[in-house]
Amino acid sequence: MNVCSVVGVRPEFVMAAPVIDELAAAGHDPTLVHTGQHHDDALSAAFFDELSLPQPDHHLGVGSAPRGEQIARAVERLVPLLAARDPDATLVYGDTTSTLAGAIAAVATDTPLAHVEAGLRSADWRMPEERARVVVDHLADLRLAPTSDALAALDAEGVTGGVRDVGDVRADAVAAVRSSDPGGLPAPTSPYVLATVHRAATTDDAAALRGVLTGLARVAAPVVLPIHPRTADRLRAFDDADWAAEQVRLIDPVGYAEFLTLLADAAAVATDSGGVQREAAYLGTPCVTLRDQTEWRETVRDGRNVLAGTEPDEITAAVEEAVAEPSREPDVPTGAAAAIVAAIEEWRGVEVPEVS
Ligand code: UDP
Repeated sequence: MNVCSVVGVRPEFVMAAPVIDELAAAGHDPTLVHTGQHHDDALSAAFFDELSLPQPDHHLGVGSAPRGEQIARAVERLVPLLAARDPDATLVYGDTTSTLAGAIAAVATDTPLAHVEAGLRSADWRMPEERARVVVDHLADLRLAPTSDALAALDAEGVTGGVRDVGDVRADAVAAVRSSDPGGLPAPTSPYVLATVHRAATTDDAAALRGVLTGLARVAAPVVLPIHPRTADRLRAFDDADWAAEQVRLIDPVGYAEFLTLLADAAAVATDSGGVQREAAYLGTPCVTLRDQTEWRETVRDGRNVLAGTEPDEITAAVEEAVAEPSREPDVPTGAAAAIVAAIEEWRGVEVPEVS
């Protein structure tokens, strides 16, 4: 069975790695297409090595551009490729520009489409990610849901066919990288807070970005923030780069293993990333989400995550409380990649090859 994964950004590399590994182990023929949405080494090339992700079979070279142009370029380059390869299935992951482009190209070429991380909803229609999730779930033939909330959201939208409960594939990635992590970083001698900020809703608004960094700066423990290139660009555009460097310890983006080590060792994490909320829950690190809503609501219900928004006082208070909380034992429920491959095999009616 030839399954063509379309990826383009950091969280998609994380999700695709265990699935591609599992497809290959089951004797199938996975193809990897990189749209080129993330193209710098820190956000792309480094991840391929660390996640043991095979080099892409095709690189579409979409590069930096306004979102509409990125979608148009990726669709234009994907359509002939899918038409020529005629895969048994196209697999898209998450909620990005590449996810949307992959789904549109699959539909345009009548290629069966499966969506990993189906059914996640933040209920915030202003987020481009939320719009991509809804559109892709409705276009997909097979919806691979990570949580019971995701299953309920699909049901509420009347999406009842081709839905499978597979679990969260990021847990497989966390388990794989943590088990092979040589632990190169020295254990921290004093508590620190890890932070990430990259969502357009925060970074495109100078006041919101200042508010978040001000809230973090007032936390007693030092705050380490590996800065996403988008955030660094916006700070420069707002003439706030020097000011920001005085508020928190800005570092370059780090590789996945190093990031997970920083996360596991942190007293707390403050983030607007979806993936990091989930990884924090797996690694037992208290999480403060720098947004008013989340698509991972069960982390809030389980008491592992607090929604603090972007107001400085609320952020400082929530992070201080999180720092005071004891960290939990890691709990990483693996098996989603195997469930995804089994669901695709059943859906495509393939005979499962013998694996020697
Ligand atoms: N991440 C990383 N290095 C960093 C910051 C984040 O490896 O310096 C990882 C993080 O563990 C998570 C993913 O990148 O798996 C999150 O990516 P991003 O914040 O870009 O996207 P989101 O999860 O919000 O879609």
